[in-house]
Amino acid sequence: AQQWDYSFDVVVVGSGNGGQTAALCSYEMGTRDVLVVEKSHLYGGTSSISGGGVWIPCNRYAREQGVEDSIEDARHYLRQLISTEEVPDYQLDAFLENGPKMVDFLHQRTQVRYVSLAHYPDYYTNLEGSRVGHRSMEPETFNADRLGEEWRRLRRTHPMMHLGGLIGITQVEAALLVGQQPGWWKVAAKLALDYLIDIPWRLKDKFHRRLATGCAGVARLRASLLDRDIPLWLNTPMTRVIDDNGKVLGVEVRRDGQTLRIQARKAVVLAAGGFEHNQAMREQYLPKPTDHRWSAGTLDNTGDAIREGQRLGAKMHRLNEAWWCNTLSVPGEDIPRLSIMEKSYPGSIVVNPAGQRFGNESQNYMAFQQETFRKHSEDSPCNPAWQVFDANFRARYFVGPLYNSRFRPDWALPKRYEAEGFFAKADSIAELARKIDVDPAGLEDTVAKMNEYAKTGVDPDCKRGDSAYDRYYGDPRFAPNPCLGPIDKPPYYAMKVDPGDFGTQGGMVINADAQVLREDGSVIEGLYAIGNCSAPTLPCYPGPGATLGPAMTFAYQAAKSITGYS
Ligand code: FAD
Repeated sequence: AQQWDYSFDVVVVGSGNGGQTAALCSYEMGTRDVLVVEKSHLYGGTSSISGGGVWIPCNRYAREQGVEDSIEDARHYLRQLISTEEVPDYQLDAFLENGPKMVDFLHQRTQVRYVSLAHYPDYYTNLEGSRVGHRSMEPETFNADRLGEEWRRLRRTHPMMHLGGLIGITQVEAALLVGQQPGWWKVAAKLALDYLIDIPWRLKDKFHRRLATGCAGVARLRASLLDRDIPLWLNTPMTRVIDDNGKVLGVEVRRDGQTLRIQARKAVVLAAGGFEHNQAMREQYLPKPTDHRWSAGTLDNTGDAIREGQRLGAKMHRLNEAWWCNTLSVPGEDIPRLSIMEKSYPGSIVVNPAGQRFGNESQNYMAFQQETFRKHSEDSPCNPAWQVFDANFRARYFVGPLYNSRFRPDWALPKRYEAEGFFAKADSIAELARKIDVDPAGLEDTVAKMNEYAKTGVDPDCKRGDSAYDRYYGDPRFAPNPCLGPIDKPPYYAMKVDPGDFGTQGGMVINADAQVLREDGSVIEGLYAIGNCSAPTLPCYPGPGATLGPAMTFAYQAAKSITGYS
């Protein structure tokens, strides 16, 4: 007989959106003896660092506003992007049909609340069944004091989603502020004022009390777990899944320097993220070039659950893919920043060492990066890549850590940006090219072409500005095409962009209940997988929130299966 140090009905590994949703749903569905183990000293994983967006067509927040949408349209849209070989019908249908139910379930019973993103379009608006808004939601802001002391153990959203590094901003506010759309300064002033006059909280913490985006979503889940006294053990990595002849019985963890064996009488739910910070696995599976330092995923995601799945004979899918997104490795910052909005705005381009563009800079981040890998070769490398822009662009938009030149003039930029090869500035395009080791003639030619395209409004090379997604981050002040602007006012600037990611994509193949399957299609009894350690449901990234939507939906599915809830 097995010897156990602890015994629970359900043990969830990982405390991101997926893990906490699984624990919460299991409890609410009647199986209350649940434990969450988390490797890090903070809870929330990459989910907490994230924008917190959740893509669920026909979610309640859209329905409440009378938005016209249907599961059939969403399915039609997705099936133009995802083949049945990539994602079988049962998986896609389980997501589409249960996603809205999961949102209803959490909304009705817990502190989880979302806000519909009315203007955030699907990423392929040129396809039938797409929508230009309301399929994605972001977490409703949440006051940190509602977590009590547990607030100190919450992983925070990425610094790039904080005003001045201290005030969390919602996705809606971010689009307004970064794009400096009409009324942006009023919003910025109100946020700053709210922050400054909150003296009681200032005495407790330097961060704003109001949480937004990813950490607000995680905080809402955590508060709901606290309401139910569901234990969450930090600093407790799962080191092994314990099985007996293929039936999963529990997990082995490390805690306070000891190895503990924890029984899971009903199920183990693996929600331990991908392998983005395991360099050896990256080199084994992902396209080149690859470097874990380019990943914005949490450092603890080193593929532990995936490797346990492999050991137990789980079928794996898409280990060679990640949630790609250009990142900025800013000297002095721990986690790279995603480069999304600033890359899309008119008046800048991204070039390879030959000084040539290699993709539509305004298309969605995932597609841009996939195009990069397709075009990258030893003879014609796409890395290192540089975003090139001029003084007007620098004055107009917030560009990663540079902000804009009105808020952070060139003299105020840290010297190490240039010294460490992240940033360059020059009075001519040719000189800039020489500074960043890019072919001067190639870059001059590319810039001249872009200046021409800005006048005609047509980009024959990369078709920038053709889709509604491209134009979401376009600037209406630029005509005829809001995504195309000239680069003609010195000084000229370059900022290095890496072929990064915000997590890996592939993992254990699951059935509609999130149970892990073997190569032969049989179920590994007692084992469930969700989030980035399972095979993706929306590998093409069809819209904002395409990883958290399925992670939470399959957490709900797992809970139904474990508890027998219907
Ligand atoms: P995670 O949230 O990373 O949770 C996994 C947890 O497991 C971690 O806490 C980790 O420490 C823990 N863990 C790992 N190994 C072990 C172990 N051995 N034992 C115990 N615990 C372990 N996606 C969206 O859908 N919408 C967005 O708006 C969005 N914005 C993003 C913005 C940024 C800046 C970034 C970086 C990512 C963004 N993403 C977004 C991606 C999204 O955050 C991730 O895909 C998602 O959080 C993955 O969820 P998960 O539950 O699989 O993993």
